[in-house]
Order: sequence, then structure tokens, then C-alpha cells
Amino acid sequence: MSYGANDDVHLRAAELTILADRAASCTQCELAATRTTVVFGAGDPNASLVIVGEGPGKNEDEQGLPFVGRSGALLDTLLAEIGRERNDVYIANVVKCRPPGNRDPRPVEIETCKPYLRQQLVLIDPTVVVTLGNFSSKLLLNTDVGITKLRGQAYPWWGRYLVPTFHPAAALRGSARVLEAMREDFTRIQGILDDTERNMMKTTELPPSIPHQPEKHDPEQLDLF
Ligand code: SF4
Repeated sequence: MSYGANDDVHLRAAELTILADRAASCTQCELAATRTTVVFGAGDPNASLVIVGEGPGKNEDEQGLPFVGRSGALLDTLLAEIGRERNDVYIANVVKCRPPGNRDPRPVEIETCKPYLRQQLVLIDPTVVVTLGNFSSKLLLNTDVGITKLRGQAYPWWGRYLVPTFHPAAALRGSARVLEAMREDFTRIQGILDDTERNMMKTTELPPSIPHQPEKHDPEQLDLF
């Protein structure tokens, strides 16, 4: 019996489920004491686009899903504008449990929760990672530079691309300039995904002796954040 792409997708989904089950009873940091539900992440385990936010808010904590409030609705709109739906992507957060009162996650909480996010990225192995806001952008780019300076470009990242942009909550606070910048960033994301998909279509026309996939770093080596 041969092993195909569908088996690979099922294996990834199964491994993500095992990881989610482990996170569901996690008590490794103090956020466990005040959460209602662990918000592990949701979406397509085979997605070419992974979106990483900060942490669950009140609605997410109650429902166990990421980005379900007004920020989620804006994210859905931005995705629709580039021809994608929530089900086409995978959405996760830096910390999986809600910081009480929506306070910022603390460095020790981010560090403790980081292996879950790293393993999600290893398993899904996307082409583009989008970081929303300061916490995920600084963590994944391993920098102290803030999102205002970081955004506006795509960074090569472990054989993939990382596109930092503002958190939707920042746009909802009323600045049209922030929303405009997010739209620019999402157009950039669309360009990268379209180019990648076009290149993969082209490579399917090549003789089988020529490798079809662009070379990627070993996803297991995603160890710098
Ligand atoms: S935030 Fe992460 S590390 Fe902390 S209890 Fe929740 S799942 Fe565990």
C-alpha cells in the first residue's frame, strides 16, 4: 500500500488533535487557574496560511474558538477581500488561555506556551505565517521592534514567509490608517500565496525527475522562537 498526500493530511490532523487534547488539560502556567476553555486553534490542518494572534479574549474563552468576536469578524472580512475563508486557513494564538481581564500575556506565560505554537507550525507547515500585533510578531521574528515598524514587508522565515500586521483590535479602535495598512498587508499575503500556487502549477508540468516543491528548511528545525 502506498503512502499519499491524503494520508499526510490525515496524519497532520490526527497529530494536531493529540496536541489539542494535551493542551486542553494543560496547567503549565498560571493562566490555567482563570481560563474557562483552552483555545488551542482552529482551521485547516493543511492550510498554506496560518494566522497567529495574541491570546483568547472573553468570547473566545467562553466558546473555545479563536477570533470569534468583533476582531474575528474583521479578520473574516480581510480574508474575504483576498478570496479566502476562515476554513481555508488555520488560526492560533501565542497563549492558549485567556489572560484575566484581557491583560497582556506575561513573558513567562508566552515562553511556557510556546511549544504548542511551534508544534502547530511544524505540523501544518504553511507557506505564509501572518502575525497579528506585537506579541506574535515579536515572538516569531525574535525581535523587540514594534509592529508599526515591523509591518509593511514579508520576511523570509525558515523557508517560508512571515508577514506581520496589526491586530484587528487596533483597527477596531477607530483608526482608518490602521485598517488601510492591514489591507495592504493582506494584499501582500495574497500575492505570495498566488505566486506560490502558480509556481506549483508550473512545476506539475515538468518531467518527474525535476523536484516539484520549492526547497524548504526542515520544519523540525523551527527552533529559533
Ligand atoms: S496558556 Fe498555554 S502553557 Fe499556560 S496553561 Fe494555557 S495551554 Fe498551558
